[in-house]
Amino acid sequence: MLNKTKLYLLSSRVFFIEVILFYLFLLLIIVTQIVHPTTKIIVLISFTFLTFVLLLALGAKRLNELENIKNVIAGIRGNKFNSPEEILLSRDLFGLQSEIQQMFEKERNDIEYLKKLEKMRKEFLANVSHELRTPIFTIQGYIETLLHGAINDQKVNKSFLEKANNHTINLSNLLNDLIDISMIESGELRLSFRYFDIIDYLKKLIHEIRPSISGKDISLNLVTELKKLNVFGDKDKLRQVFINLIQNAIKYTEKGKVEVLVDEKDKQCIVTVKDTGIGIPEDALSRIFERFYRVDKARSRAVGGTGLGLAIAKHIIEAHDSRIDVKSKLDEGSEFSFRLKI
Ligand code: ADP
Repeated sequence: MLNKTKLYLLSSRVFFIEVILFYLFLLLIIVTQIVHPTTKIIVLISFTFLTFVLLLALGAKRLNELENIKNVIAGIRGNKFNSPEEILLSRDLFGLQSEIQQMFEKERNDIEYLKKLEKMRKEFLANVSHELRTPIFTIQGYIETLLHGAINDQKVNKSFLEKANNHTINLSNLLNDLIDISMIESGELRLSFRYFDIIDYLKKLIHEIRPSISGKDISLNLVTELKKLNVFGDKDKLRQVFINLIQNAIKYTEKGKVEVLVDEKDKQCIVTVKDTGIGIPEDALSRIFERFYRVDKARSRAVGGTGLGLAIAKHIIEAHDSRIDVKSKLDEGSEFSFRLKI
């Protein structure tokens, strides 16, 4: 009892000045207003006692509130709450309750986000290891076979070396794409925006890429009525996007045409890379921009794909405040388009 009283009194110390000031105010009234000495003493004693009780009540209330807060914090630390609504404080602490609930919600979201990031990191690492292992093992296989005698076999030695060489090119493409994607995703993508004539730029680019079609019955052309159109963007980064889209169009088209269309609409430049190739199944359309997603893994690898090209292209176009759209029909072809500022 004595201990509790002491505890309550100690806890009420925060209100001490206010209570004493109130008490002195009452004292002043008693001294000035009550004339009769006995009444004066009785009223004085009663008010002193009431002040003491008031201090005790305030102390007890404060202690309760602190205990309430302490329990909630311990509950959060001990993962006792499943939802913010389960966090309840006394009515007087309503403001604090909603603050703690919001903090709990934010912390829970942050943790979930970190868990998601961790999962993505693990998946990415697993994918990278897998992607690296495939060409390395293949190269190793060819070299070992050659070393074990195939080097002297005129029928296979050249083709084995060529195949090993192709896989080294794949490996180097993969490493370059990995460097790009990690730079982009760690926020190190620095763009250097300027105006340039996209018509002239695409003519030159298509001229450069055309030789890579060799062996396929595909035409590659720029289709536009415009003679000149200045767009605002990063020339080098956009080059990477165009090369990826055009090379994809060539890779996944056996016969027909690949066209790069440029148009001007609503004070924007619309660029479309269109092919008459194998197309993309409906259910894969939303996934092709994910890292390492390929509709047909074997086919993509066989044509030198890394599975990162579209993920990189998407980031670059988004950094231009735009987005890539895709339309495709199986066995009919695909078209990728985006807008640029002019
Ligand atoms: P990859 O290096 O495998 O081509 P991308 O990220 O560039 O990786 O493309 C992801 C996947 O999207 C490809 O593996 C392919 O399945 C599909 N794809 C991309 N472009 C085309 C296209 N023009 N026609 C058909 N499929 C395509």
